[in-house]
Amino acid sequence: VRILLTNDDGLQAEGLQALRRELDRRQRFDVYVAAPERERSAVGHAITVHKPLRVTEVVLPGATRPAWSVSGTPADSTKLAVLALMPERPDIVVSGINRGANVGGDVLYSGTVSAAIEAVMLGIPAIAVSLAGFEGLDFGPAARFTAELIGRLPEAPLPERPYLLNVNVPALPAERIAGVASTRLGARYYEDAFERRTDPRGRAYYWLAGEVRDPGPAEPGTDIWALAQGLISITPLQIALTDEPLRARLAAWAAGLRPEAG
Ligand code: MN
Repeated sequence: VRILLTNDDGLQAEGLQALRRELDRRQRFDVYVAAPERERSAVGHAITVHKPLRVTEVVLPGATRPAWSVSGTPADSTKLAVLALMPERPDIVVSGINRGANVGGDVLYSGTVSAAIEAVMLGIPAIAVSLAGFEGLDFGPAARFTAELIGRLPEAPLPERPYLLNVNVPALPAERIAGVASTRLGARYYEDAFERRTDPRGRAYYWLAGEVRDPGPAEPGTDIWALAQGLISITPLQIALTDEPLRARLAAWAAGLRPEAG
């Protein structure tokens, strides 16, 4: 299995390195790495179009394949690796392991998920993996689960078209993880409070300091609920954004609209 490994926390991030070591250790995976040279969390699906991308080849300890440090975003890294750097197309793109969960609406801001979406746009199936915690993280259980998951995909009821699985692993020791659930995106809201401060030259600036609002009990079947149960969450995502029922309802009305003559 030829794998492209990427992330949004940067090439040297612990989560990517832990997963790379685990995949290389199993010897059945051919692992290439292309990732941003520095942390690019929450850049969403941004791509670089107004300046060149620089690539530095890095030798990772014990690796059999090249690792490329890319001066761009997570989506850039996937696109560049598939279209220009890798000698052959990967069978699957794996993005992560991200430091911090990517659940609910997070997936729209997440560079981790966007690197995986870019793969699907290039016709390649992808998995985004996140570890749901921030302090004192052990990426070992999530890395071992991800390697196992990739190995077992051939037996999974997946479509022929490129699919995208968004995986979130609770930050628990392996023996305390309760199981694995197929989920849908939940609703998580942030109190998006901007702090207004003053810089040394007396000018105002704003700093987003949002915190997750306590939503009460999570809706069963969602990714947020699964993590709260100690379950690993697997959410299949699709990119099709068209609101098809609303498109159909608007059709006759929209056809009757005309631009006003200047
Ligand atoms: Mn990140």
